[in-house]
Amino acid sequence: MEIKKGIAVSPGISIAKSLIIDSEDYRIPRRSIGPSQRMKEIQRARSAFKNAAGELTELQAGQETIEQRKIKDIFAVHLRFLHDRSLRKKITDLIHLESVTAEYAVSTTLREIASHFTRVKDAYISERAADIYDIEKRLLRQLLGGKREDVEHLTEEVAIVARELSPTQTAGFNKEFVKGLAADAGGRTSHAAIVARSLGIPAVVALEDLTESVSGGDTVIIDGNRGIVIVNPDAETVRQYEKYAKEFIELEHSLERIREKPAVTRDGTRITLLGNIEFPDEAEIVLQKGGEGIGLYRTEFLYLNRESEPTEAEHYQAYSETVSVFRHRPVIIRTVDLGADKYTQSKRFAPEPNPFLGLRSIRFCLQNLTMFKTQLHAIMRASVLGEVKVMFPLITNLQELMQAKMILRDVMDDLDEESITYNKNIAVGIMIETPSAALMASTLARDIDFFSIGTNDLTQYALAVDRGNELVSTLYSSVDPAVLRLIRTVIQDAHKAQIDLNVCGEMASEPEYIMLLLGMGVRTISLAPPMIPEIKQIIRSVTIEDCNNVVRRILGMNSERQISSFLRDATRKILPEAF
Ligand code: PEP
Ligand code: MG
Repeated sequence: MEIKKGIAVSPGISIAKSLIIDSEDYRIPRRSIGPSQRMKEIQRARSAFKNAAGELTELQAGQETIEQRKIKDIFAVHLRFLHDRSLRKKITDLIHLESVTAEYAVSTTLREIASHFTRVKDAYISERAADIYDIEKRLLRQLLGGKREDVEHLTEEVAIVARELSPTQTAGFNKEFVKGLAADAGGRTSHAAIVARSLGIPAVVALEDLTESVSGGDTVIIDGNRGIVIVNPDAETVRQYEKYAKEFIELEHSLERIREKPAVTRDGTRITLLGNIEFPDEAEIVLQKGGEGIGLYRTEFLYLNRESEPTEAEHYQAYSETVSVFRHRPVIIRTVDLGADKYTQSKRFAPEPNPFLGLRSIRFCLQNLTMFKTQLHAIMRASVLGEVKVMFPLITNLQELMQAKMILRDVMDDLDEESITYNKNIAVGIMIETPSAALMASTLARDIDFFSIGTNDLTQYALAVDRGNELVSTLYSSVDPAVLRLIRTVIQDAHKAQIDLNVCGEMASEPEYIMLLLGMGVRTISLAPPMIPEIKQIIRSVTIEDCNNVVRRILGMNSERQISSFLRDATRKILPEAF
């Protein structure tokens, strides 16, 4: 039995057999095979070479501009490697002599060559190491492709164990069979974690070297409440966890009873609870959990798990389906937030060096106007179906907002010309998720109807801490005094400008942060649907005066640790079951 500690990102307990999925940048662990399997592995390696070469030849076709010809030359170098007999022999010999898998032989051999290249003083040669890694990735994709399909055709319950999970992969998991998720990498607000929470699959990330301790088929317990994963638990541990899982489900059922009750504090202040969704069918879950509308529809998920861009009809279908659940309640549709960890990198020939600071989100839309207009067209058509609002993500300055609004006006003009009806007074808002937007909130407020504070990105950009990097996860906190200053500024500026404000980052799904948010003046929050009942319970247990006192105490504190532990204690007194 081995116990690993990571970060709990999606609540719940799962006990299941593990299914390991390997990702592209992952060092393939050495797995031994029996003598009878050697021939099969050698065949797999040969086919991988053949298919990878075929893929490259296809990619080479039709590259005619000067830039494209440069790419063609690079592919030619890669092809020469793939056709190199001595390389193939080295790999098949390794499988034969050491009884290892094709993946392991490919990865070890190519990495060995790459490291020789890196040691050569000549810059031209040492830079070729990147090409070798590229070839390794291409071959591994061929070899692991089959296993990825296994995940799509599951027939029994499993716990997925991976080096790193991408949002796309996670969104594709079948909830019926995938009972838990555990990953070496990741942080609380990485998009894969957000998706796990939305799907209601217990998950723990930042386990560092878990994949080295688990073999496929081992029993693992994933404790998404305490951030613990237990590999090959003994019988007594399994018994205790089965009991704990039962109690947790009972707690969840007991919270369902408050579904019909309003989110109102003990002294009568009404709080609006909205849901964050990634897919239209989650709107129904928000409703079931007692949510009163959609505060954040992450529409970029329409682009994931597919090769081509969605059509306007597909956008419209998704929005009308969502609005049909909340016809007279707000549905805030965020325009696509592609880039960073979502979608665009894998489509690029050369990934961006700093994708979170790169062509992401509204910046990507403003450079891909046809795509942006297609989405806005669909949103505007859906605007007459209910109380639809449109929201732009990652605004960093006024000019960007003006450009986005100008495109929206263009789309409205097109609709007028086509005599299509839409809501001319649609509410337009922006996410405040960059420090620059927070600092300029009073200016930005003049040109829009509402702010939505995206604490996930705001925290990452304010503290210069990658939200998905487990190596710096202890530095990532939305209650760092610097982040709280920014959040307070935005709330105060929204109140002064008399515009609506909500908080939609994961902070709003954290029980211990709710009193703080209410005390700072927040009255609408949008959160992960499974967390709505628990958060409502907290709201119904406090007075605004309690919350104001919490904020007064916190304003005198300069350390994140002090603030965190103070908030945890304050919430524990109100809802001990949450801990
Ligand atoms: C945020 O950044 O807080 C947010 C809600 O947006 P996302 O998590 O989709 O980046
Ligand atoms: Mg964001």
